Amino acid sequence: MGEFDLIARYFNRPASHIQQGLHEGRSVDIGLDIGIGDDCAVFTPTAGMQLCISSDMLVEGRHFFSDVSPEALGHKALAVNLSDLAACGAAPRAFTLALALPAVNEAWLEGFSRGLFALADAHGCTLIGGDTTQGPLNICITVFGEVPRVNGKSGALLRSGAQAGDDIYVSGTGVDHVGQARLALEILRGNIKADAATLEAVRHRLERPTPRVHLGVALRTIATSCIDISDGLLGDLGHILKASHVGANVQTHWIEGSQAFALSGGDDYELLLTAPPHQRDALQAVSEKTCTRLTRIGVIDAQLGLRLLDSAGLPLLNRFNSFDHFAT
Ligand code: ADP
Ligand code: MG
Repeated sequence: MGEFDLIARYFNRPASHIQQGLHEGRSVDIGLDIGIGDDCAVFTPTAGMQLCISSDMLVEGRHFFSDVSPEALGHKALAVNLSDLAACGAAPRAFTLALALPAVNEAWLEGFSRGLFALADAHGCTLIGGDTTQGPLNICITVFGEVPRVNGKSGALLRSGAQAGDDIYVSGTGVDHVGQARLALEILRGNIKADAATLEAVRHRLERPTPRVHLGVALRTIATSCIDISDGLLGDLGHILKASHVGANVQTHWIEGSQAFALSGGDDYELLLTAPPHQRDALQAVSEKTCTRLTRIGVIDAQLGLRLLDSAGLPLLNRFNSFDHFAT
């Protein structure tokens, strides 16, 4: 099968699939003028909105195991990108897909595209173009989302808005605990011994993360800063602190049981956010509306630095490092 047949069969879907998208729960015309098949895709942003754009690349051996299910990989490749939109409070519109494939494997392409489009359709995010080439397996997606422009300024939720006194929250704790993706990774790598049931209980957190898209959109007018957790909670909180020129005191008593990776794991794709205390009721309402648990884990402080506190409020030694691609 040639490049063009491959694109036509697995990635170019009938127009009925792509004329409509979901925008903040409403079905809307996505304004796609030219989709797959010409030299560029052309689409018109919604009036009054601006585009938020992000790319994430998944490299075999670095970001996923060679034997991972192609369906899960299709899901995750888009999920990690939608998670970046969520962190900015952006509603997904469209994406492009750049694929390097070692060979044309139809069973793989069928599974990959199924996982990819299931998540895309769930969020009304349309595949509008891409590139396909032969090479070591590599998946690069660029997503386009929208936020309103408010009073001449961007309505996007940024890392830089945290203020002293703000509460710090993490999404999805409890059943979907931060750190579980890393636990699954360490079990799969053979670094941690665990039985099959334990692995099954956490594996989906690594392989099928849930991007907190609806939560992110709802937070846009409530949170002062936000980031998605891809490198580990403390490391990503560090990005907020640096961008906002503030410090933080973080509680550790919410970490359940022996969840060693809660603070330093990575690949969680939960949202980490800050909001002033007067927004607590609003956040509770958002949490209920989006069926996403929010746990308050600390407070932003004017004093720079990140301090971990035990259940008595006493400082703990910071021995947690987050994941850095170039440090290992
Ligand atoms: P060009 O050579 O002009 O870059 P290509 O031949 O690479 O164009 O691609 C032909 C069309 O198919 C373009 O519209 C491109 O966006 C689309 N396309 C290529 N690969 C993919 C893919 N993996 N997923 C979606 N669309 C793709
Ligand atoms: Mg091309």
